[in-house]
Amino acid sequence: MRKPVIAGNWKLYKTKNEALALIEELAPLVKGVDNVEIVVAPVFTVLPSLIGAVSGTGINLAGQDVFWEDEGAFTGEISPRMLMDAGASYVIIGHSERRQYFGETDATVNKKVKSALKGALVPIMCIGETLESREAGETFKVLEGQLRGGLEGLTATQFAPVIIAYEPVWAIGTGKTASDEQAQEAHAFIRGVLADLYGKQVADKTRVLYGGSVKPENIKGLMGCADIDGALVGGASLKGASFASIVRYGE
Ligand code: PEP
Repeated sequence: MRKPVIAGNWKLYKTKNEALALIEELAPLVKGVDNVEIVVAPVFTVLPSLIGAVSGTGINLAGQDVFWEDEGAFTGEISPRMLMDAGASYVIIGHSERRQYFGETDATVNKKVKSALKGALVPIMCIGETLESREAGETFKVLEGQLRGGLEGLTATQFAPVIIAYEPVWAIGTGKTASDEQAQEAHAFIRGVLADLYGKQVADKTRVLYGGSVKPENIKGLMGCADIDGALVGGASLKGASFASIVRYGE
């Protein structure tokens, strides 16, 4: 009942020609996949040049961030309307790298989620605890704070399209994946908080993705967990073959 989403976060990699080459490699490998929503998030500048390449392939484009104003004197920012104009239909918001290096907070995440929804972009809102928080026994407290803060003021109807990505910070780019049990435990907790916020019906429909060193070798186990509805993939999304085999985890 929840269509899985496999999203690739290309981070600060791939120029225009490299991005086109990656799509050309990936597209035939995921041809015919219709039981998984496929999303890739390149850097902003290459989005428009990928529109033609992804057309008819089932691959959707995402931004890696968005600002909350439509336009104005906000040097360096990009608005939901501009992202849509560039070809994106999804947007990653609150990635831990943005929280860690660029001062993203739950309050800014909240403004961005609201503006993305207003602009009809599907937000992929990232949350996740640091190793320090996990070791201090504060994982659930951190996740609940990030969820409530990031979603503050949204009604159930407004929230409905939002995708949540649980990404334990200690598992991102480190090669260390959360065990299936650790991930499932966090995902079940997240769905519980969403049920408390928006009711069980809405929570049961929400896609909650896992992110953190997902690769072809561990995707099957993760996707076998009851509350894991897909993956946000960094490193392994930069090669067509590995991303395609993650997309085709069920085969
Ligand atoms: C990410 O960038 O969201 C991510 C999970 O990266 P990686 O898969 O490389 O750990």
